[in-house]
Amino acid sequence: MKDKDIQSEFDIIVIGGGATGSGIALDATLRGLKTLLVEKNDFSEGTSSRSTKLVHGGVRYLEKAVKKLDFNQYALVKEGLKERYRLLKNAPHLSRAITLVTPLYKWYEIPYMYVGLVLYDIISGKRRLGKSSIVSKKEIIKKFPSVSRDGLKGGVRYFDGAFNDSRMVISILQSAKESGCEVKNYTEVTGFKYVDEKISGVKLKDSITLEEYEANASIIVNATGPFCDGIRKLDFKEAKDIVKTSSGIHIVLDKKFLPNDEGLMIPKTEDGRVLFMLPYLGKCLVGTTDEIAKVQERPNVSEADIEYLLRHIKKYFAVTIKKSDILSSWSGLRPLVVDDNAENSQEIVREHSINSSKSGLISVVGGKWTTYRKMAEETLDFALKIENKKNLHSCQTKNYKLVGSIEKISKIKEKLGKFSFNKDLNEHLISFYGDCALEVFKYIEKFGEVKLHDDYPYLEAEVYYSIDYEFTKKPLDFLVRRLGLGLVDKQAAIDCVHKVSLIYKDIFNWTQEEYSMYLEESKTILNTNL
Ligand code: FAD
Repeated sequence: MKDKDIQSEFDIIVIGGGATGSGIALDATLRGLKTLLVEKNDFSEGTSSRSTKLVHGGVRYLEKAVKKLDFNQYALVKEGLKERYRLLKNAPHLSRAITLVTPLYKWYEIPYMYVGLVLYDIISGKRRLGKSSIVSKKEIIKKFPSVSRDGLKGGVRYFDGAFNDSRMVISILQSAKESGCEVKNYTEVTGFKYVDEKISGVKLKDSITLEEYEANASIIVNATGPFCDGIRKLDFKEAKDIVKTSSGIHIVLDKKFLPNDEGLMIPKTEDGRVLFMLPYLGKCLVGTTDEIAKVQERPNVSEADIEYLLRHIKKYFAVTIKKSDILSSWSGLRPLVVDDNAENSQEIVREHSINSSKSGLISVVGGKWTTYRKMAEETLDFALKIENKKNLHSCQTKNYKLVGSIEKISKIKEKLGKFSFNKDLNEHLISFYGDCALEVFKYIEKFGEVKLHDDYPYLEAEVYYSIDYEFTKKPLDFLVRRLGLGLVDKQAAIDCVHKVSLIYKDIFNWTQEEYSMYLEESKTILNTNL
């Protein structure tokens, strides 16, 4: 699975290494198409590492479906629940069922919410993850000691999925690569090539070496999320926008604010949104907001957004959370399909759109992480209807076990049990690498059990592993997107950035100048916007 030089003739080129592009690359490769995926930054550096980390049908959409008798919203929930089940089954090391509790302060809300959640369970059918229930006031106080008790009547509990989004992209891409796909990060599409006005290839620029080159394919898919319209305009200057972007921020707090393994779902914010407090990588993740925003890399986290989240947490918590309690924050851009009838970004149905330009550039945008696989399947079906290719398999991804999930978790535990790792390290290795933990172990044998940071079980050996197997090229690829440390504890990531950068310097033969440049770049990003 180590990186190798690129060839130039493909059946399909996928632009964008987020959830959508990765899913398409895997599906295409498994059908038998010679596939190239290119990403201008690091894989998952866009929206796909900035989600709320839920694999869900969307309880909120269900409420809308029922209240407005909206079939589209209902279909979206049903499809989401089907895909939730598949994602959890195909990548069990990176995902799990999670319970979410909603504290309620009015008696009538308890039956109202409960009935809605029972409906959510019914729509899940045999793919249900667990049974929704009513929770007593006493249990809520016991499980969530800092929840405000004033007027608390009780609550409800339901099941959804939770996952590690950025590692999921890597697992999908490793799977694609194992099956023959070429995957290139830090490779930007700067233009297109045409034969008889039909799109026939892409112009590429390596954003590290600045080398420019070309690759050809008869199918080209634009899966660039928030950047979709920019790419469409590279193909056709007059293309009408089909994407609206809305930003959503998350903040991360210490685990003490959410001391057990359940999440909290706060059902109605002042602007009608749902807010989550979730356990994530040993911390408490809070999000999110929803504001129309312009397309940009590393979108800002505004003071107003942080105030918004803190204001809502305060409504439900008896403790005050100060800005200094925030360990990290980041913003992501939702690529929403333009809906002229929607009054604001929350009104836009989270469906996806697949279309082809006059020259044949296929663009796919919208949807959500949970449905990445289904979007990929539909995109390939769409592309292959236009482009007739022979001897291909049908879609293989419904039951396709991703890299890391071939062996059962119990089996991996048994194998890792032979080594004398402590419990935290064992759990970390399994939940990050699944059965690849055994490969990581070879790196631990070679480089020793040297920790990166006193407060975390993470090891230097993992940096080496990530360079060889997880496509990392810069320190923050590892610290933010493979390890997630920058996302949950910026200071800890800053503490280890030196050590990690030295390893990259060594492996990539950076000059002292290059090393200083990458170190400064990493520190600036960690100190400002991720
Ligand atoms: P992206 O991840 O943005 O990927 C597009 C990629 O294209 C980028 O990496 C970009 O660098 C690359 N690119 C752009 N231009 C070029 C070029 N010229 N050449 C090469 N590459 C290029 N969904 C859920 O199911 N569950 C959730 O809990 C959830 N929470 C969310 C919370 C927030 C705040 C947000 C914003 C979204 C959330 N979503 C959630 C939705 C989900 O994250 C997105 O639908 C999904 O990540 C979009 O993936 P994508 O691949 O389309 O876009």
